[in-house]
Amino acid sequence: MKVFFIGFGQAGGKIVDRFIEFDNRTNGNSFRAIAVNTARTDLMGLQHLDFEDRVLIGQTSVKGHGVGTDNDTGAQITFDEIDIIMNAIDRKGIGETEAFIIVSGLGGGTGSGGSPVLARHLKKIYKEPVYVLGILPAPEEGRLYSYNAARSLATLVKEADNVILFDNSAWKNEGESIKGAFDRLNDEIVRRFGLLFRAGEVGQLGIGEMVVDSSEIINTLRGGGISSVGYAISEVIDSGPVEKDRGFFDRIIGRKQIEERRPEEKLMGEDKTSRILSLVRRAMLGRLTLPCEYSTTSRALVLVAGPPDDLDRKGIEKAKSWVEENIAGVEVRGGDYPAQSRYVAAIVLLASIADAPRVTNLLEIAKETKATSERIDEENVLKLDESIEPLFE
Ligand code: GDP
Repeated sequence: MKVFFIGFGQAGGKIVDRFIEFDNRTNGNSFRAIAVNTARTDLMGLQHLDFEDRVLIGQTSVKGHGVGTDNDTGAQITFDEIDIIMNAIDRKGIGETEAFIIVSGLGGGTGSGGSPVLARHLKKIYKEPVYVLGILPAPEEGRLYSYNAARSLATLVKEADNVILFDNSAWKNEGESIKGAFDRLNDEIVRRFGLLFRAGEVGQLGIGEMVVDSSEIINTLRGGGISSVGYAISEVIDSGPVEKDRGFFDRIIGRKQIEERRPEEKLMGEDKTSRILSLVRRAMLGRLTLPCEYSTTSRALVLVAGPPDDLDRKGIEKAKSWVEENIAGVEVRGGDYPAQSRYVAAIVLLASIADAPRVTNLLEIAKETKATSERIDEENVLKLDESIEPLFE
């Protein structure tokens, strides 16, 4: 799929920078991107986007210093300066773009407030779908982040064609600081979504037997709302002699993860059909980008990538049926992506989910926060002696 990424705010910029690095590293030519921010230093810190693709907005109002966690200001600046962003997209050229993906942290200010505004404008101007890859804040970041994320998400589900979520709190390890986890979390994000959004592109081993093309991803996401992604890998059993560079796919998975792989992840002695089936089950039942009640999913897409010999057709069909039996809807699309590798990977996109506890919890926190701050605004007023005359009325 040819994707145009817009990284909005700090998290969005950093993650999109990684997508471009991934595209370069895997010799793809599928992704193009710009980054938008109100903070100059965040834009300067990016490593892979060209300088001309880094767009600073709000220069007159916040002078390159960012909006803090004020997402109302983030939205206002984006409304006021939408032309600057749209011109940057035009300058880059949309080429054969099949979908726009806005990436942002929903708990902050710039990306949280700006993303829904940008989604609305992109949808007005282009016919291609507009998706958002939104990062949910961890609870320990404080109630303001949760409040921002709830407001941003409530707006995004109306403005974008689908909002795919990644929950920082579900991915952070016990005892790890959220900031210390960013690099690792961003790797996890790019590994999953990089592979998913590559589907349908011609890999180095040609097109798969059961290719997933872009229209299938688009049709899966068609119902709107929120979505989540599962992922699992397994080593192929007879991988032959070990080569130094195993090609495209191992670069996606990343050497570090391969080294850290737990031994039980190596599936032995099963035939190829059941191996594919159990891999897809692991992807869906394991840790999702947004933990959710998968049985409330409307549509799903199953993608299996790896050496052509291991992409067992019957296995993929069985896995699709198994997913269909376990979700609410009946539309399950799927296929393969042949790639030279020692590993087979499965991605399951669960689209239009009706129940995700973290989202419910965010909305509750947001309601409480709003009620508390209104009460405090009303009650917590410094009472000055009314007998004292002000300087003027
Ligand atoms: P903005 O620059 O005002 O849009 O704000 P940020 O992008 O910093 O958004 C803040 C939210 O994004 C917080 O919930 C952070 O935890 C999260 N965040 C910031 N940087 C990263 C990152 O590199 N990776 C991930 N996964 N989350 C991040």
